Amino acid sequence: MKLITSLLAAAAMSVAAFAAPVFAQDKGTVGISMPTKTSTRWISDGETMEKLFKEAGYTPDLQFADDDIPNQLAQIENMVTKGAKVLVIAAIDGTTLSDILQKAADAGVKVIAYDRLIRDSGNVNYYATFDNFQVGVLQATSLVQGLKLDEAKEPKNVELFGGSPDDNNAFFFYDGAMSVLQPLIDSGKIVVKSGQMGMDQVGTLRWDGAVAQARMENLLSSTYTDAKVDGVLSPYDGLSIGIISALKGVGYGSGDMPMPIVTGQDAELPSVKSILAGEQYSTVFKDTRELAKVTVGMVNAIMDGKEPEVNDTKTYENGVKVVPSYLLKPVSVDKTNAKDVLVGSGYYTEDQINN
Ligand code: BGC
Repeated sequence: MKLITSLLAAAAMSVAAFAAPVFAQDKGTVGISMPTKTSTRWISDGETMEKLFKEAGYTPDLQFADDDIPNQLAQIENMVTKGAKVLVIAAIDGTTLSDILQKAADAGVKVIAYDRLIRDSGNVNYYATFDNFQVGVLQATSLVQGLKLDEAKEPKNVELFGGSPDDNNAFFFYDGAMSVLQPLIDSGKIVVKSGQMGMDQVGTLRWDGAVAQARMENLLSSTYTDAKVDGVLSPYDGLSIGIISALKGVGYGSGDMPMPIVTGQDAELPSVKSILAGEQYSTVFKDTRELAKVTVGMVNAIMDGKEPEVNDTKTYENGVKVVPSYLLKPVSVDKTNAKDVLVGSGYYTEDQINN
C-alpha cells in the first residue's frame, strides 16, 4: 500500500512537472476574423496565426466569414462579447465595421487590420500588410516584360482587371499597376481596345473568378472578334484562372493563338501549376507566414504595453486617421523563379507544385 502511495505521488509529481508549460498562464483570447475559405491564402493566414498565437500563450478564436458581411459582423460581435483582448481582422468590406469596432473600443479591445485596411473608423490601432502599391507595380512590370514591349514593333492589346471595389487594397494594386502602364498607354505602345479603364469599370466584386471569367468572355465577343488580346492585367490568381478559362474557350493557348500574358497574385497552387505549364505568366508571392508572424509580434507588444514595430506611418489613411502600418515585401514569381522562391522558402513542397 505504502509502495503504491509513493508510486502514485511520484507519478503525480512527474505529471505536474511535465504538464506545467501547458498550464502556463493564458494571456487571453485573440479573435481572428478571416473573410473566406474560397481562397487558400486566407486559410493559410488563419491557421498560421492560430498556431503562433497558441505557441505564444494566447487562446485564438479563428472564424471564417464565407464572404458574407453580416456573418463577419456577427462573428466579430461574438468575439467582443466573449471577452477577446485583441481582434485581428481581414475585412470583407473595409467600410462596414465602424459600429462593431466602436463597441470593441468601448470594451478596451485593440484592433489590428490584417492585410486589408479597415476604413472609416478611428478604432483601428495597427495595420499589418504588404506593400500593396508595389504589388501592382510588380504585376504590371511582369506584364510588360512578358509582352516583350521593348522589342515590339506593333502596339499590344491589353485588358485590365481590378479587384473588389470594397477592398482598399484593390485600389492600391490598380494604381501601382497603372503607374507602369499609363505612360505606355499614353505613348500608344499598349492599347486597351475595350476602352474599359478605372476601378469603376474594371473592378471585380468580391474577387469572384466567375465574374472575371464572364467579363473576359464579354470582352472577347464584343471587342476581339477580329483582333487578338496580347495581355491581361489580373490582380489575383482566382481571377486569372477564370480569365484563362475564357481565353481557352475561344482557342487561345493552342494553334496560332498563343496564350496572352496573364498576371496574378498570391501564388495559389492552381496558378503555380498553370505558370509551370506555361499558361498563366506570373503571380505575386506574399508569404502569409511572415504576415502572421508580424501580426503576432504586434499583439505581443500591445499586450506588454509596448509600441509594436511599424515601418510606415504615412500611406494608409483610412478616412479618419493614418493607421500605423508594417509593410512586407511582395515578390514577383514566374516560370523562371517559381521553384526557387516557393519551394526554396518552404511555402510549398516540390510534390505539391508538381502533382
Ligand atoms: C489581398 C490579396 C488577395 C485578394 C483576394 C486582397 O485583399 O491582399 O492577396 O488576392 O484580397 O482574396
